[in-house]
Amino acid sequence: MTDKLKIGVIGTGMIGQDHIRRITHVLAGGEVTAVTDTDRSRAQEVAKTYGGIEVFDSSDALIASDAVDAVLVCSWGPAHEEAILPALAAGKPVFCEKPLATTQEACLRIIDAEVKLGKRLIQVGYMRRYDRAYADLKATIESGVIGEPLMFHSVHRNASVREGLYTDDMAVADTMVHDIDVTRWLLGDEVARIQVIAGKRNSVGKNLRDPILGIMEMRGGTVATVEVSVNIGYGYDIRGEISAEKGTVELSESNNVVLKAGDSFSGRVPADWRERFIEAYDKELADWIEAAKQGGASGPSAWDGYAIQVVSDAGLKAADSGKPVDIEMADKPALYG
Ligand code: NAP
Repeated sequence: MTDKLKIGVIGTGMIGQDHIRRITHVLAGGEVTAVTDTDRSRAQEVAKTYGGIEVFDSSDALIASDAVDAVLVCSWGPAHEEAILPALAAGKPVFCEKPLATTQEACLRIIDAEVKLGKRLIQVGYMRRYDRAYADLKATIESGVIGEPLMFHSVHRNASVREGLYTDDMAVADTMVHDIDVTRWLLGDEVARIQVIAGKRNSVGKNLRDPILGIMEMRGGTVATVEVSVNIGYGYDIRGEISAEKGTVELSESNNVVLKAGDSFSGRVPADWRERFIEAYDKELADWIEAAKQGGASGPSAWDGYAIQVVSDAGLKAADSGKPVDIEMADKPALYG
């Protein structure tokens, strides 16, 4: 396919609209031709803003339309499966925002359907893999210059979350999932066991279990720690350091300049994930569009989505009990390497 990929977007909320902006104004290879949302007025508003977009009453109708070559799923997590399965049945490539689905059973149904097709058609929106700094971290590990990784320390800090809307479970199921993804990806290994400890609470979050510390033991023995703090105040701060046999490598500060004035130095901390990962979101969608044009998929797979869901579920149990929880996963189909 040489023309622009015709993309149908299911869910025109916050990230759906951001991806539509990206496809329309930033990237070259695709165009949004169709939208649907349970809130039809929201979909209509988006279609009006951009022009040339057809509004559909249901995801099934959008997927079946000749105006759609590929499907971008940006509805809320529990609705992902009902969008992905018909898209696979129609043989249309899918980009699904994280999570792949909200239960392990649903993830496995999606995997079964993709395996039956015999080729990958799904990319899941774990965008950190497209961040330049994370890519450099991985390349450094793989170069062998610091030897075998022994530990990975990940830190995920949000300036603030909305009281009442952000609940205890989300610290693992919505926030830590990105750290679980990069841990598996950087170390090239699956998680064997997870423990989640909650100590002294940040008084800003009132009743929220915040911060939490996740400790993951990988199958190969490497240990990863993840701090999730969601009311840290000063900004959105993503940190990561590999401690290895012969050295360490860590993400540098994400600001481009360091200010020195008076007797101190300083730099900007990103306000939120949009600012910190804006290039990564652009790159992940560009990658998806290119792969979808070839009738396939690259980047984080349905298997990654499933594996993260398993660890996330275990993390929630571990957070409630305070005890380590073993990870039990299905066998990995050959399709996922
Ligand atoms: P949002 O603002 O609530 O938007 C979701 C939209 O989907 C809403 O308009 C919602 O309508 C609609 N919707 C729900 N079920 C639907 C269905 N069955 N068919 C069609 N539309 C449906 O949420 P968001 O923040 O954009 O998040 C959407 C997804 O992206 C979530 O899975 C989230 O985890 C993910 N996300 C990922 C990242 C990342 O860093 N990769 C960042 C943000 C979000 P109603 O309001 O009427 O329910």
